[in-house]
Amino acid sequence: MDRSYISTRGSTAPVSFAEALLQGLAPDGGLFVPTNVPPLPDGWRDAPSFSALAEAVLTPWLQGEVLPEVSRRIIREALDLKVPVVALQGAGWEGVHVLELFHGPTLSFKDFGARTMARLMQHFLAEKEEALTILVATSGDTGSAVADGFAGQEAVNVVLLYPKGQVSAVQERQLITQRPGVQTFAVEGTFDDCQRLVKAAFQNADRFQQKLSSANSINIGRLLPQMLYYIWAVREGGFKEMVCCVPSGNLGNMTGGMLAYLGGLPVRQFIAAHNANDGFPLFLGGAGDPVGNSIRTLSNAMDVGAPSNFERLTHLLSTDELRALVWGTSVSDEETVASMRRVYEATGYVADPHTAVGLEAVRRYREQTGDLAPAVVASTAHPAKFPDVVKQALGIVPETPERLAKLWEAPTQVRPLLPTLEALQTELDQLANFDW
Ligand SMILES: *Cc1c(COP(=O)(O)O)cnc(C)c1O
Repeated sequence: MDRSYISTRGSTAPVSFAEALLQGLAPDGGLFVPTNVPPLPDGWRDAPSFSALAEAVLTPWLQGEVLPEVSRRIIREALDLKVPVVALQGAGWEGVHVLELFHGPTLSFKDFGARTMARLMQHFLAEKEEALTILVATSGDTGSAVADGFAGQEAVNVVLLYPKGQVSAVQERQLITQRPGVQTFAVEGTFDDCQRLVKAAFQNADRFQQKLSSANSINIGRLLPQMLYYIWAVREGGFKEMVCCVPSGNLGNMTGGMLAYLGGLPVRQFIAAHNANDGFPLFLGGAGDPVGNSIRTLSNAMDVGAPSNFERLTHLLSTDELRALVWGTSVSDEETVASMRRVYEATGYVADPHTAVGLEAVRRYREQTGDLAPAVVASTAHPAKFPDVVKQALGIVPETPERLAKLWEAPTQVRPLLPTLEALQTELDQLANFDW
């Protein structure tokens, strides 16, 4: 194998991709990073489809660990998704493109990572004749993407914890939809309580009958597929070079873009678009590392005070390189709503609040730098996931995709849970003795 995975904190022996994927976090508390990045395959600009591009780009990453015919099947199954690159039409938005990443089953970009990671984990676990239970605290899109991605993968069960009454109606429905191998708990507490519980469970792993693992954006298995759509955007647009804007929270999606860049993708500038959680833009402007608590905003999937993938970015690039390559800005809730309106009025495009943060960041970048090179904004969620904000901002109800409409008819499953380790353990013990 010509590539292994080491910890950002440097005191873990190198491991294979399979081990990095199954372990999630490195034993020393760091994040796994590859020792090198393979160059983009020849002919990536001519790939006939997104899944063909995915296969060509990911095969070298999996070489030596997954047989080519197996990786082909996994990639085709996981990544048979539509990825439109929409050129905005309207005064002031010439050359700005929206990379729509929300056409997967749960309508956010998290589907790319979750679907790929689920099938790879299933493959490696089946080889070892092992099984895992994935425990996820969720307040937004990760939970439903993970539940959907892993549903029906026999070697992996999923347990979701969400704060009761603190997610949107659409998000809740996505979380409690009945799926094979998935159990959802509505926790009597906050998102922080959910996260604390997951952490406590991992710290007391020996008390559980199941082998526990996580599926948040610290997992390298989610990041690799997140390179692909940036490459696709350049191919689809036929750009010589692009400005690439990523609405960011934990910086996982940005790290995916950075891996593509390190593989040779011509990115002239990255833009890190953040909401009021501005630690990373401040760092880019010369301040210290982003730390601290999160602030609640309209773009709630980006409400992150201390982005977990910061550690990966600063491992892959030096501080000076990062500050030169990434331009950052922070967009308030008022500015987010204004951005939704401005874009809608000028172009007719309906953006969700996360994408609106990105569009405002691009507008500022162009205004401040005068750089009018083709710009691509990653559109991370479908506007129909946030009907209330869209209604408030634009006075219209976003069109509901069929798969979202169908959700309201699907059977549900959810159990209440007190936010204590004992309560969680009792529930998981029951599940362990139950063939779900
Ligand atoms: C998760 C998420 C983000 C933030 O992505 P990171 O990889 O955490 O930076 C942005 N928008 C939406 C809709 C998300 O679900």
